Amino acid sequence: MAKRIYYFGGGKAEGSKGMKDLLGGKGSGLHEMTNMGIPVPPGFTITTQTCIDFFNNDKKWPSHLEEEVKDNITRLEKETGKIYGHPNNPLLLAVRSGAKFSMPGMMETGLNIGLTTETIPGLIKKTGNERFVYDSYCRLIEMFAEVVMEKAAGIEPRSEELGIRKQLQKIKDGVKKARRVILDTQLSAEDLKEVSDKYKKLIKRVFKKEFPDDSRQQLEQIITAVFLSWFGKKAVFYRGKEGISDDLGTAVNVQAMVFGNMGENSCTGVGFTRNPSTGQKKFYGEYLINAQGEEVVAGIRTPKQIKELRKEMPSVYSQLKRITSKLEKHFKDVQDFEFTVEEGKLYMLQTRTGKRTGLAAVKTAMDMLEEKLISEVTAIGRVSAEHLEALLHPVLDPKAEKSATLLAKGLAASPGGATGMAVFTAEAAVKWAKAGNKVILVREETNPDDIHGMTAAQGILTARGGMTSHAAVVARGMGKAGIVGCDDLEINSIKKRFRVNDITIKQGDWISLNGATGCVYKGKLPMTEVGAGKLLSSFLKLCDSRRKLGVRANAETPEDAKKALEFGAEGIGLFRIEHMFYGKGSKTPLFLLHKVIISKNEKERITALNELFPYVKKDVKATLKVMKGQPVTIRTLDPPLHEFIPKNDKERKKLAKSLKISLIDLGNRAKELRENNPMMGHRGVRLGITYAEITKMQIRAIFEASAELTKRGKKVHPEIMIPLVCEVNELKDQKKIVDNVHQQVLAKYGLKKISYSYGTMIEIPRACLTADEIAPEVEFFSFGTNDLTQYVYAFSRDDVAKILQAYLDRKILPRDPFVTIDEKGVGQLMKKTIEKGRATKSNLKIGICGEHGGDPESIFLCHKLGLDYVSCSPYRVPIARLAAAQAAILERES
Ligand code: ADP
Ligand code: MG
Ligand code: MG
Repeated sequence: MAKRIYYFGGGKAEGSKGMKDLLGGKGSGLHEMTNMGIPVPPGFTITTQTCIDFFNNDKKWPSHLEEEVKDNITRLEKETGKIYGHPNNPLLLAVRSGAKFSMPGMMETGLNIGLTTETIPGLIKKTGNERFVYDSYCRLIEMFAEVVMEKAAGIEPRSEELGIRKQLQKIKDGVKKARRVILDTQLSAEDLKEVSDKYKKLIKRVFKKEFPDDSRQQLEQIITAVFLSWFGKKAVFYRGKEGISDDLGTAVNVQAMVFGNMGENSCTGVGFTRNPSTGQKKFYGEYLINAQGEEVVAGIRTPKQIKELRKEMPSVYSQLKRITSKLEKHFKDVQDFEFTVEEGKLYMLQTRTGKRTGLAAVKTAMDMLEEKLISEVTAIGRVSAEHLEALLHPVLDPKAEKSATLLAKGLAASPGGATGMAVFTAEAAVKWAKAGNKVILVREETNPDDIHGMTAAQGILTARGGMTSHAAVVARGMGKAGIVGCDDLEINSIKKRFRVNDITIKQGDWISLNGATGCVYKGKLPMTEVGAGKLLSSFLKLCDSRRKLGVRANAETPEDAKKALEFGAEGIGLFRIEHMFYGKGSKTPLFLLHKVIISKNEKERITALNELFPYVKKDVKATLKVMKGQPVTIRTLDPPLHEFIPKNDKERKKLAKSLKISLIDLGNRAKELRENNPMMGHRGVRLGITYAEITKMQIRAIFEASAELTKRGKKVHPEIMIPLVCEVNELKDQKKIVDNVHQQVLAKYGLKKISYSYGTMIEIPRACLTADEIAPEVEFFSFGTNDLTQYVYAFSRDDVAKILQAYLDRKILPRDPFVTIDEKGVGQLMKKTIEKGRATKSNLKIGICGEHGGDPESIFLCHKLGLDYVSCSPYRVPIARLAAAQAAILERES
């Protein structure tokens, strides 16, 4: 029988930081801190395996647990010199959840366990502090009623009003009103005693059961409740969102209580060794005097800044600073810690890796590298794709901000901009967002039950709470703009509105948040990009020094090409000729394409193509010029021609008129072009085979654009890419055209050479299987994994969404193969293609264009397969650079 419990105390622990699997993150941190000689109240950790066993045992305590708890309580009693349940000298306990991965606030924790009518007088006598004892007792009942009794009764409060916590709150508020005080701390011992009596009566009425007045029962029930909270609604939802397995279970930490609510020289607080929002290397935290437990996080009272502690309790402050710096050095990462001061004595209650924003992730990684705390490899591993994404997220347009109406200013809890309609409940946020609206969730404070609403919202705004409040932590975790502690807001969530000064904002009114400054504005402000700062570019340079994959961008305009270069692209991996027919620019090219399409014979077609030619040439030239000799992969016309003929009558009439043909003729031509299965139809290279003149025009445009730039001393390197090839002879056929036009253009411009290469997209399974025949004809392959996925699965890209959803819901497929390359099928085919291709042409260059090129997991696969480069949208280039570096590091380490 494996050990169920690991003890920590007396400067020595049975566990350590490497035991997160078994002891959970919180537990292993407590054990490690104990071993480091840091003051931690002693206790013991019930393993995660025990939680799993509990669920496999019909939700009853598994064998040996009871005995081991008993033995360890005895150990704890010896250590503390107090006895659990003893009338004169009682030990009180904290019972705390803690899984392998941090799930802040998603599971339960119980404090002050062991207070009963029997132990209360003893504790009062011992501490001489009656007020403190009844304060703790009230807290115990509140917690117990909610965490144990309400859950056991199966009551799912439909609204907060009906929840037991709110009903208890009303009792307390009633007493406060009678005593004419505002804060709980102003209630006297007698007041609190009265509150506790009323609490117990209410509980009996609601649950038809007494609040347990037996310390053994309390302990057993709270441990069970913590186990059960592993499958609590919030916890399950959170795990689903974060991709954490349901099979891990939570550990349970049973620990001696220390009291932050013993008076003015006691407090409780939380902090970070560096700023979790900006990454700035500055000790950071908040605390509340004469308080306990989750008050700081719950946002019930707005806490004080840690710098105040320096004045209020100077020696505690410097000890805290010393300990937390030691922790940061020891764990070599930003620490998020919890502490309590009992009558001037400091105790550490938790330490863990601090969650941080994208900005803070990059900043701390680069700073710690410079401080020589971590290696380059570690620094690269500290930043995730989500971090970068958040960093590249839009912010409020600063110009618009200047002239906007400032409603209020709160704490800047999570950076980024957000604009949306104000909503006042999580349910409304979900409902409105589902209907396609952008919303900002405005709350007095948030709690874990709001998580759905926070997920649905663009940003989060609260009137209370500090930088470590629930709302702040969650917003940062989600990479969303968040402003908290905005106490100028008078929120009325029943009437669905808030007021600041004379302005009232009702549900549905637009507001905008600047999460970096804490400013709340009236109205819908425009958003803009952050742009790559110096910090980001030096981090990405570090990534570049490690990666083997090249990174290119998909771009078709000089503006996009410039953006791509700014983000660090090393070329363009996909320039689609047809984009000019879809774009917002001049309508002339599309009109001329229409002329090409309706041409009845080759002669007419050539005339139309000649008219179209200068537009294509100009377009290609503009991008080639920006790229200054970096490779630009230009794909010849790919979509089926009928896609360009309008479907509705009105537009057809207009088109017929401008083309000077009859509507009937246009209709006939459309009919001729119509296909039952256009994705497998007359498109890609098939157009070039049936209409050689279409290929000729495009190739001429590419070469003449290149020749003109070459003559002006500019460097160019176009890569001609033929799409939808299934047979090598297609490429041989098109190559003749390329060679011919090349010669003609050289002669026309009197040039000896135009630098270019010839290659193909690989997107049809037959091309993969015959890659050995195809390779000698080309210089490069570029996997078109969108179409390849379509043809491998026989999933029509345009229609599959509905089917796919059912497949994902029912776990028939693990993920959308159009988002992440399916390694088993498509990946296998890619591997074969590469092997065959390189077998007949060893220096074959191989890349990937298409959506997968910007997906981190697919980039890992591309690295593993030995591709030369990935290509993705300009905005994803930084993410690709990071993922490529991480892939190279992972390979080296495994
Ligand atoms: P969470 O995982 O939600 O942070 P914790 O188990 O850390 O839950 O407990 C929440 C709070 O309860 C802590 O921040 C701390 O203030 C208080 N707390 C936990 N353990 C103790 C203890 N042994 N003594 C006093 N307060 C405690
Ligand atoms: Mg905690
Ligand atoms: Mg394609």
